[in-house]
Amino acid sequence: MEKCPCGSTKEFSSCCEPFLTHKQLPFTPEQLMRSRYTAFAIVNVEYLVATTHPSVRHLHQPIEIKEWAQSNQWIRLTIVNTSGDQVHFKAVYQDGKGKLHQHEELSTFASVEGTWYYVDGEYDF
Ligand SMILES: [Zn+2]
Repeated sequence: MEKCPCGSTKEFSSCCEPFLTHKQLPFTPEQLMRSRYTAFAIVNVEYLVATTHPSVRHLHQPIEIKEWAQSNQWIRLTIVNTSGDQVHFKAVYQDGKGKLHQHEELSTFASVEGTWYYVDGEYDF
């Protein structure tokens, strides 16, 4: 069986896959964060668009999401801390030239009628 790309150590089929296929809704911001990381790793642009808050969706063009997801190899996700509607995480990825990068972000999520969405992220903290 295949381990989930989000690094939870669970099987993909019992971790992020039910969210990516819209069979289940993430219950928590962390679950949504993990499933969005997995969507980057497997280049599921539709899921990334669908889980972006409708008020900011226009700021994220599908073609740009696709290029960003595809041009990097997603190595590792670490959840540093979660608090309320925020998730602090680090994502390690390798660019097309083989260079490693770490993306650290404090993401804010919002729940609309029981569905969690990604709103935005802070990078300076
Ligand atoms: Zn997962």
